[in-house]
Amino acid sequence: AGWGVFLTILHAKAESAGREVIAVDPRNTSRTCPACGHTAKENRPTQEKFHCLACGHTAHADTVGAINVLRAGLVPRHANPA
Ligand SMILES: [Zn+2]
Repeated sequence: AGWGVFLTILHAKAESAGREVIAVDPRNTSRTCPACGHTAKENRPTQEKFHCLACGHTAHADTVGAINVLRAGLVPRHANPA
């Protein structure tokens, strides 16, 4: 899945919710550990893998990037689909 497509969907959702999307650099978000916040390019041993050097958290790099983009650009609100 391309980041461009993902961000386009994110923008569309944010606009429909009346919110602004904060520009997030996907390269940085995919280097930040969602568990402890440690950011380093060394957290990405390969294009697909995320492995935090600080806490040992492992995940698929796309998953990590998506989590961090959502956290940085949009704060999900529960029970408010409106
Ligand atoms: Zn970590």
